[in-house]
Amino acid sequence: MQTAFGSTRIHKGQLIDGTGAVPVPNAVVLVKDGRIAYAGPAQGAPPADPAAQTIDAQGGTILPGLVEAHYHPTYFNVAALEDLDIKYPVEYVSLLAAANTRLALECGYTAARSGGSLFNIDVWLKKAIEAGLVPGPRLAASGREICGVGGLMDWNPDFRKIGMEGLVLLINGPDEGRAAVRALVKDGVEWVKTYPTGDAAAPDTNDHHTLCMTFAEMHAVVQTAHNHRLKVTGHCRATEGIKNALKAGYDTIEHGTFMDEECLELLLQRNTPMIPALQFEYASVKRGPEIGMPQAVIDGHQETLEGGAESARRILKAGGRLGMGGDYGFAWNPHGDYAKELSFFVSYVGLSPLEVIKCATQTGAQIMGRGEEFGTVEKGKLADILVVDADLTKEISALEDRRRFIAVMQGGFIRAGRLATATFTDASLVR
Ligand SMILES: [Zn+2]
Repeated sequence: MQTAFGSTRIHKGQLIDGTGAVPVPNAVVLVKDGRIAYAGPAQGAPPADPAAQTIDAQGGTILPGLVEAHYHPTYFNVAALEDLDIKYPVEYVSLLAAANTRLALECGYTAARSGGSLFNIDVWLKKAIEAGLVPGPRLAASGREICGVGGLMDWNPDFRKIGMEGLVLLINGPDEGRAAVRALVKDGVEWVKTYPTGDAAAPDTNDHHTLCMTFAEMHAVVQTAHNHRLKVTGHCRATEGIKNALKAGYDTIEHGTFMDEECLELLLQRNTPMIPALQFEYASVKRGPEIGMPQAVIDGHQETLEGGAESARRILKAGGRLGMGGDYGFAWNPHGDYAKELSFFVSYVGLSPLEVIKCATQTGAQIMGRGEEFGTVEKGKLADILVVDADLTKEISALEDRRRFIAVMQGGFIRAGRLATATFTDASLVR
C-alpha cells in the first residue's frame, strides 16, 4: 500500500499509544512520508516542518488505527445460514465486499484479518486495497473455510445437490484436510480458517458443545499449513475443541468460549491470542426474539455469552492476549457496528478502555504478524492513526460514531473522518 509524501502535525489531544501505557496529555504526533516521526509530549517535540499540514485534535484522543481481528468482508445481512453462501452470485458478493471494506475504514479500522470469505474474494480484495483501487483496511486474507462433513458449516441437505464450495471445503479425514489446505495455498490465502466445534446457531446436531473436526484432521491441517507458511485459526467453543486446537498448534483461537484450567494453561504456555467476538452473542440474545430466532438458539447464545466473557476475563487477568473482532455482517449485527465490540468489553466484560484499545490495536497487529509495522503510535511505525473528538478513557463508545472521527489516517493519508474530502458510505446499503 502506498504511503503519503509530506509532513503532518497532530496536536491538542491526549495520546493513547496502543501499548497499554497511560495516556500522554497534550501530545504531539509528527508524521513524515507516511510514518510516525515523533509521538509524545508537546514539550520536547522536535519542530514540525513549516510546510506540515496541521490536525487539531480538539482536546480529544490520538490513537492507533483499529484492527478488526475477525472480519468477514463477504457477509452482509445474513439472517439465515443460506444467506452465507447461495443467495447471490460471486460478482455481486465481490461488490458488496468492497463496500464493506470502505465502510470498515470509515469506521476507523485501518487493518483487518479475515475470518473467512466466500470464494476467494478477500484475497483479491486485499490486492485491490493494496493497489489503491478500493479503500479498505490492510487485509489478511483467509479465503474459504474448512469444516468436517456433517459439521456446523455443512448445512445443505444432500437432496439439494448443492455443495458448500463457495464458502467451505468439507473434509473427511486428515488426507482431505491436507488436500483442502493445498487448495488454499494455491488460492493465495495467509490464514486457514477451520471449524473444530459447533455453535449455538445449530442446536440439533452441531451445538456449541459438539466437535466438527477430529484432532487428526486439525493436526494435518496445521502441519500442511505451517509447511507452506500459512497460519491456522478455528471456531472453537467446546472445551475439547479448544484443547485440540492448542495441542495441534493453532496460531490463534476464535471465540475460545468454554475454557477449563488445562485450556488456559495451554493457551498461556503458547501465548496464543484469542478473539472472543462477544458483541455478536449479546446482539443475538437481545434481538433474537424480534427476528424469530428459536428459543433453543437464544439460550445457547446466552450460555456462550457468559462462558465467553468469563474466559476472556481469565485470559487477560492471567496475562494472555485478546484480539477484538466481531463476526459483523449478520442482520442483527451489521457491518459498521464494529466498535460496539470495544464498548461491550468495557461495559459488560469489565476491561478498562486502555486495555480494550490495546487489544484492538497492538494485539490486533500482532495477530496479523505485523506488530512491527503498525498497531501502536510509536516512532518508525506506519502512520495508521485515528483522531477522535472524545476522551476515550471516559467515553469509549465515541468510537462507534463515525461523525466523531476528525481523521482516519492510513499510511499518512487522511482516508476518512471530518477532514477527509470523501463522503460517508451509507451503512444501510451494505447491511
Ligand atoms: Zn466468524
